[in-house]
Amino acid sequence: MDQHQIDTLRALPVPAFAHLIDGKHVAASDGATMDVISPIDGQVLTTTAKGTARDMEAAIASARAAFEDGRWAGQPPAARKKVLMKWADLIEANALELAVLGVQDNGTEISMALKAEPGSAAATIRYYAEALDKIYGEIAPTASDILGLIHKEPVGVVGAIIPWNFPLMIGAWKLGPALAMGNSVVLKPSETASLSLMRMAELALEAGLPPGVLNAVTGEGRVVGETLGLSMDVDVLAFTGSGATGRRLMEYAARSNMKRVYLELGGKSPNIIFADAPNLDEAATVAASGIFRNAGQVCVAGSRLLVEAAIHDDFVAAVAKAAEAMRVGDPLQMNTQIGAVNSDIQLQANLGFVETAKAEGGQIITGGERILQDTGGFYMAPTIVTGVTPDATLTQKEVFGPVLGVTSFATEEEAVHLANGTVYGLAGGVWTSNLSRAHRMVRGVRTGVMHVNTYGGADGTVPLGGVGQSGNGADKSLHAIEKYINLKTAWIKL
Ligand code: NAD
Repeated sequence: MDQHQIDTLRALPVPAFAHLIDGKHVAASDGATMDVISPIDGQVLTTTAKGTARDMEAAIASARAAFEDGRWAGQPPAARKKVLMKWADLIEANALELAVLGVQDNGTEISMALKAEPGSAAATIRYYAEALDKIYGEIAPTASDILGLIHKEPVGVVGAIIPWNFPLMIGAWKLGPALAMGNSVVLKPSETASLSLMRMAELALEAGLPPGVLNAVTGEGRVVGETLGLSMDVDVLAFTGSGATGRRLMEYAARSNMKRVYLELGGKSPNIIFADAPNLDEAATVAASGIFRNAGQVCVAGSRLLVEAAIHDDFVAAVAKAAEAMRVGDPLQMNTQIGAVNSDIQLQANLGFVETAKAEGGQIITGGERILQDTGGFYMAPTIVTGVTPDATLTQKEVFGPVLGVTSFATEEEAVHLANGTVYGLAGGVWTSNLSRAHRMVRGVRTGVMHVNTYGGADGTVPLGGVGQSGNGADKSLHAIEKYINLKTAWIKL
């Protein structure tokens, strides 16, 4: 990719987006639209349909009809595989267009978006396409006069609700396994990052996915998301987003048909640095990128740095140096390392956390303020706060922005205790040359993923899911398929 191609794409006008229902582009039932504000410059980029409850009900009805008549679930596995493989090819063929469109409304730096968005989405769709004809039912070890068969059936209609930080990647984590197993899906992208995901959904139709199997509705979470959550015709909710919304989805399920609810929520992930780390310079650089890339808007971001007291000051200085060297700015420049915060609301929330941290006795080592205000965009300097106590707001609450809190520890036991001292359990990291200690830390810290002598990064072969209030179930890997199937027993007397 060169900068010229990106500049050419960004100069094109961005079309208005409608819903995708029953294979057709459909405006909101009352004609309403929402402005899409680009975080790059704060300007209106385009509009999307502002969905109504009626729109969402139409999408659910379309998905239900598609599921019941077997137009997708009833196709031979090889046929479904072919469509999904074609879809992955189309995503790849349109990768730059998708990445630029996504960056224009969500603000992720393009270098990261190119890797984490279309590239990863295509790989995910392909992974589940390849898997779908290798998933067998089972024969139970019953008595000889019985045949016990265990069928793996699609669940029915899946509601997929997606956040704004990596819409294509996270969208594909739900769509890949759900569609591969024969379900129909109703997709609800984020209000502030829907464009690339809506375009990716269109490509599924181009690839030959039958109309109604994948419907996508834009609009406000409290309107269309709530309708999806409360529907009696949706069997599974697959959600990534905040804990507050996750709680609501559980309530919706309880108030309606007790649908299954899978939650991939936030984190407050500890990155733990021991003095015996194999390479402290590398640890410092990775600690900085592990919190500051995508302006901290990464669910597994290492937002709590726990540093052994003996190296605290030198190590913090090295992380600050690495942070200050990162280029913040226009996310559509290939050399930008930290793009825009997704919205003004999120930027103000981030700045609020900095003020609270100061009031609670934290010291700002670097950053702490909005920058590049003359662009009209939403940019924040990477921020490091030291002296963060175990009960401080910066320890206990997810910021989801470029703010790193630092706490020092004296012993391995204390490090584990601090690491486990929040309601979250999504990710963590440990840096040490001591193999036994590394394994003890992996066992001792309660998270869905632990990184050892690295931070962040993982491919589709391993699950990602949180414990505690970071969620349940897992995206990625063959394990994710379990969310989108029912087990049915056939008990046959011979
Ligand atoms: P959010 O909860 O505000 O929104 C997520 C989605 O839920 C959006 O599509 C939104 O429209 C919808 N929504 C909002 N209110 C709703 C309601 N009442 N009913 C139904 N749907 C509703 O989250 P966000 O701010 O977009 O995303 C940031 C959060 O996502 C952070 O907490 C982050 O840690 C988390 N996240 C987690 C993972 C993971 O894999 N665990 C990955 C990425 C992001």
